[in-house]
Amino acid sequence: MNLFITFDYELFFGDPTGSAEKCILEPTQRLIEIGERTKTRFTFFIDIGYVIQLEKWSSKFENLSLEYKKVVGQIKTLQEKGHDLQLHIHPHWETASYTNNKWSFKLDGHYKLADFNDEEIQQIVSSYKSKLESIIGSKVNGFRAGGWCLQPFNRFVEIFKKAGIKIDSTVFQGGKMSTKHYYFDFTNAPSKGRYRFDDNLCQEVENGSFLELPIGGYRYKPGFFWRLYILGRLMPRRHKMIGDGNFIAQGGKKYESLKKPIWDHVSCDGYYSSKLNLITSKFSKEGRSDLVIIGHPKSMTRYSFEQLEKYIRIQQKKNSFLTLSAE
Ligand SMILES: [Zn+2]
Repeated sequence: MNLFITFDYELFFGDPTGSAEKCILEPTQRLIEIGERTKTRFTFFIDIGYVIQLEKWSSKFENLSLEYKKVVGQIKTLQEKGHDLQLHIHPHWETASYTNNKWSFKLDGHYKLADFNDEEIQQIVSSYKSKLESIIGSKVNGFRAGGWCLQPFNRFVEIFKKAGIKIDSTVFQGGKMSTKHYYFDFTNAPSKGRYRFDDNLCQEVENGSFLELPIGGYRYKPGFFWRLYILGRLMPRRHKMIGDGNFIAQGGKKYESLKKPIWDHVSCDGYYSSKLNLITSKFSKEGRSDLVIIGHPKSMTRYSFEQLEKYIRIQQKKNSFLTLSAE
């Protein structure tokens, strides 16, 4: 089986967004070290809207100018180390302002790409992609939508074709969410490691224009969340996220998960990393061709760094680790 370890390289989007140091720079440095020790390459989806805003506000704030240099420096380091850098768009950066040492956004009506009109989407996709390409000095052809929101995809087909985006890894198999900010429904996505598609993310089309490498989904039982809840209290240093920001409030999901099973991503974030070997064996037995694992530097914990490294060492013996552009 082909395994893809992917990270969304970004701050938080709640209040506060957290610091670049804790959410991005420090944990990514640890991932670079794991990559070196295990000789593995990862795919990083760069939230380039953030980088664009950093640059824009740099002339006004010296701390942001320094942050811009550090983040761009790290993106270049990732490139030099052979990691794969691809496009991640959180378009609400279009509404960002920086006051009192923190970012604020107008999330309502600006969280997902589909909230914008066609002209704006076109402009966002092409300018964000050009900025990332100018930093890394090469073309990108892969995409993951912020918050997994990329439906209805027919609105993006022509824009993506024009931008030369060929591979998508937005679909989170079996996932579904509809809230004030989020909308996705992947319950009809093919249960496969990869498939081609045209104007519907969840409909396989032979010889379709785009390749989907969906993020794996898994049913986590309440016992999993209870263990996490207890470990978090007994060993906070080991199980606390490195990132120092907050997620967008999502009303009650946390408590619901203590009562009934929750369908969620296959992930190397925090305690989710404890399930990686088991899930990989399960998919492998089912004869699946590929498994995409999602992670976020900001959501890594001391525990998950250790688990990730162990996981890579075990799986290297039986499976191949690939990056998106290797496809
Ligand atoms: Zn994201």
